[in-house]
Amino acid sequence: MGRSATAGSKLLPEDVRRHNRTLVLQTLLDAGPRSRADLARETGITRVTMSDLVGDLLGEGLLRELGLRTGPGPGKPSMQVDIDRRSSLIVGIDVSDHVVFRGALLSLDGEILVRATRSAEGANGAEALRRVVELAADLVDSSPRPVLGIGVATPGIVDDRGLVLSAPNLGWTGVDLSSSVRAATGVPCHVANDADLAALAERSIGESAADIVLVRIGRGVGAGILLDGRIRHGSASSAGEIGHVIAGADDGPLCICGKRGCLETWLAAPRLTAAIAAAGAGSAEAVLSSAGERLGLVLSPVIAALDPDEIVVNGPPELVSDSLVEATNRTIHARTTDAFHGHVAVRRSTLGLDATLLGAAARVLEVELGLT
Ligand SMILES: [Zn+2]
Repeated sequence: MGRSATAGSKLLPEDVRRHNRTLVLQTLLDAGPRSRADLARETGITRVTMSDLVGDLLGEGLLRELGLRTGPGPGKPSMQVDIDRRSSLIVGIDVSDHVVFRGALLSLDGEILVRATRSAEGANGAEALRRVVELAADLVDSSPRPVLGIGVATPGIVDDRGLVLSAPNLGWTGVDLSSSVRAATGVPCHVANDADLAALAERSIGESAADIVLVRIGRGVGAGILLDGRIRHGSASSAGEIGHVIAGADDGPLCICGKRGCLETWLAAPRLTAAIAAAGAGSAEAVLSSAGERLGLVLSPVIAALDPDEIVVNGPPELVSDSLVEATNRTIHARTTDAFHGHVAVRRSTLGLDATLLGAAARVLEVELGLT
């Protein structure tokens, strides 16, 4: 986001200030409370500058003083400072589920403090937008502290300004979700693809490998692609849109995109739930195993092309079952060469349905404070 100087350009004083500020916040976030002197030594910022910087951050309420304590090194007790993790809060919203729109108030270190939902059933187009904006406004109103920003995870294709170019399952085309939420709440809003945000959360909180493909099963199906720890968006913000790849040579069910047999028609949460209901409870695992095979079919060339460390599957826990994960694993290893890709494992996300909310909060920290 242009935070570092490009070759040949001059660093402006405000760039230096912003960089130093991020460095101090990131150090405290990663390493915990420190004295001003420790911070100066660890960041390479002079003690005088550090003293001013910490003073500014205390004034803004982003830091707090913890009292005199002995630091990690030798020497006299000194005043320790830390991020005031509840000085301001973050609103996270996930609109990728077909049953409920999920929202939460989170602390700066990603603890979910309050949850709220709105029904997503029957919500399409303008009505879906209205409910999401209302959920965001209610969470901002209920926050006991100022809200730093709102992060929204949406299915579909989102450009780098947060415009939802296409989310067919919500009936959205060219919807300026971030502006609508900002206009209703007065708080900055950052919108991104749900699978991308879940992949970010897996990396920053779930401690996944740096090269992963995260498959997100919700209202639709999509993937977040993380290479060298960075999300890949592709040439038209569509990287990871595996949901509309036809999965198999047979004539599958009709998809919302007009084709037949897209991965989404086998694997999206509403389709899987309906297929299990139709097959009877005793056949649930067979339905999930068959869906897992379709996923493996679509993922195999992706794995051959990208050579990731692991595939993480995130979605409703009752659907992301052992049978589904095992069938995906089996199919991938049957269709790729173990000499190259034998190490690639498919696993369930450890963050469950909160992955998108945590990713949305991480996105707010990244954009508003430069923290990763
Ligand atoms: Zn389709």
